[in-house]
Amino acid sequence: MGALAANIGRNQVQEWLGDLRVGGSSGTRLQFAGDCSQPCEIFCRGLPDKILVGLKLEPETQRVATLLTRCRKCAKCLRHRQQLWAARAVDEITVSGRTWFGTLTLSPEKALQLQYASELRKVRQGWQLAELADTDRFQAIREEASVEVTKWLKRVRKNSGATLRYLLVCEHHKSGMPHWHILLHERSGKVLKRKLEASWGYGFTHFRLVPPGDNNAAYYCAKYLGKSAEARLRASLQYGSPSMETIAEKVEHLLGELMFQTTKHDATSPTVKMTQQEMMIPNINSSIF
Ligand SMILES: [Zn+2]
Repeated sequence: MGALAANIGRNQVQEWLGDLRVGGSSGTRLQFAGDCSQPCEIFCRGLPDKILVGLKLEPETQRVATLLTRCRKCAKCLRHRQQLWAARAVDEITVSGRTWFGTLTLSPEKALQLQYASELRKVRQGWQLAELADTDRFQAIREEASVEVTKWLKRVRKNSGATLRYLLVCEHHKSGMPHWHILLHERSGKVLKRKLEASWGYGFTHFRLVPPGDNNAAYYCAKYLGKSAEARLRASLQYGSPSMETIAEKVEHLLGELMFQTTKHDATSPTVKMTQQEMMIPNINSSIF
């Protein structure tokens, strides 16, 4: 747990304390669920000493804890996600030279190509195509398409030489194909509209500059995050003010590290065991809420 301890400073842990409700006869319960109407319970066993001490828990007796986290699906969680990312986008627009607001879609040919590629990948992983639910299919296509978006971003950065930050919101179109709403912030250098649009090449694209002082694009982009739990986002590292990282995100970061270390270095005797809602713990690197 050495690397983990180094990542979690005492001040950071102290910062969480204000929002914690600790104690109760049934064991330690840590509340990180905010206003969620159906919080998820995560049972943790074997919390390391440093974290217990930081949370003012007794290492000898309180190594077992139940964490309540957001469900990410209820109306209140979606609303929270929308407001949080809108505020972050406003923050990025404010500190950036210019911001482009755009849409990326896939042509029918490219969509078909990505669908085949995603199905081929699933089959190679041992899936029967008939067994795949619609959500699995969409997720597979989105992952395939996400690679193309990454390549596009690389091309834009390379061709313009600009320093760029971004927020990408991926929506599920009725056709089963993903499309993206994007805020592209110029931190230094500039990108030309025709280069932005020409370098996509996989379908329709439209970009416009956000007028100075106009935050509507931020609200518009974030609106999709509040519409459906299926809408996914990708963003530059520490998008928005780092101080806006929520307590829940800090805890998830911490848990993500714990799980990573458990599986990577100590798979035979896990020190942290998730018995419920294990899949609710995201890898922080994915930037997926
Ligand atoms: Zn919820």
